[in-house]
Amino acid sequence: MTGPAGNASTILTNIGELMTQDAEHRVLTDAAIVFEGERIAWIGSAADAPAADSHYDAAGRACLPGWVDSHTHLVFAGDRTAEFEARMSGQSYAAGGISVTVEATRRATDEELGDLVTQRAAEAAAGGTTYLETKTGYGLDVAEEARSARIAAATADEVTFLGAHLVPEGWSADEYVRTVTGPMLSAVRPYVQWADVFCETGAFTPDQSREVLRACRLAGLGLRVHGNQLGPGEGVQLAVDEGAASVDHVNYLTKSDIDALAGSWSSWNGQSAWNGQLGQNANNRGTVATCLPACDLSTRQPLAPARELLDAGVPIALASNCNPGTSYTTSMAFCVATAVLQMGLTVHEAVRAATYGGALALHREQPNDDDGRLAVGSLAVGHRADLQLLDAPSATHLAYRPGMQLTHAVWRGGEPVR
Ligand SMILES: [Zn+2]
Repeated sequence: MTGPAGNASTILTNIGELMTQDAEHRVLTDAAIVFEGERIAWIGSAADAPAADSHYDAAGRACLPGWVDSHTHLVFAGDRTAEFEARMSGQSYAAGGISVTVEATRRATDEELGDLVTQRAAEAAAGGTTYLETKTGYGLDVAEEARSARIAAATADEVTFLGAHLVPEGWSADEYVRTVTGPMLSAVRPYVQWADVFCETGAFTPDQSREVLRACRLAGLGLRVHGNQLGPGEGVQLAVDEGAASVDHVNYLTKSDIDALAGSWSSWNGQSAWNGQLGQNANNRGTVATCLPACDLSTRQPLAPARELLDAGVPIALASNCNPGTSYTTSMAFCVATAVLQMGLTVHEAVRAATYGGALALHREQPNDDDGRLAVGSLAVGHRADLQLLDAPSATHLAYRPGMQLTHAVWRGGEPVR
């Protein structure tokens, strides 16, 4: 089975459990999957499988989509071990620790910073991540933010401009917001698809955050918000009002925050978006709630109410939030295990949030006719061949054997990466 474009095909057979996370939520046993070039060409029972150019015996292992990590901060130098130790001995976390990282990042050469980002992305890929978002936000001046965006774009699939991470020392907030929405936005614009703002006490007020988001939307960027991480606040409502693709952290939510998130999907229908049914058009998307459990544990914050969100019909994503201050891990498997063991999700729901949910939060769950890119985050014919095999017969082992290194093999766009 060589495809019309002449791409070589590969068949994986003897898959113990194939979790598609597509609209039908299929979990197939004795399954096979065929990919041709970068696309999935066929999925079904091994007994009905077509022939292919090459063959891979999965030896009874589980197969699932590669992780879609929709929230990371990989462009940084240095680490913050001392701050972490202080926190573990009882000091509370407050916005502000990033200045240590900003200084170390500014001191790193382009080559050093680029190498650090590539190493972290490679570590993520080895752990099963096949689609990766990362952010700027440790530059905090025009030239440094532009440099971070350029370096991020060389490696990550999606880049987010987070100039509004914190008001740097020596600046007034208003003066800094004018810079972020003016020269800084122009300088990063060629490298980024998204903009984000840290809407939190000690960072940016709702009014300042709105100003940043609106300027970035006018520049053609999609929007995301860091919100409701350290206490109740207006971040979630702001994200919904401004039509953000996601609001991330969401630790402290009121009933009205959850209602606002569910309501944002009412013209698509929250449950059907989560279930994978296509919306009528791109304009009726709502706001995905992105939960970051590794960060919650590392800051000793209450875990985000993922169960309540799902029960209310809000689509959720799970992401690593890999960053040096509050979540220094790229392990999506750890996030999935935590979501099952401590956040009340089933394995299927947690894996869905870490694959399809991340794609939904990045507007990548459907093929994009404008840029020709294939759908990611679920396994279906025509989607990008982004998949992983576990050293286990089912995905349940991700939570049943927490902390074990279960990634056996990973393909990204049909190419083996591990
Ligand atoms: Zn973050």
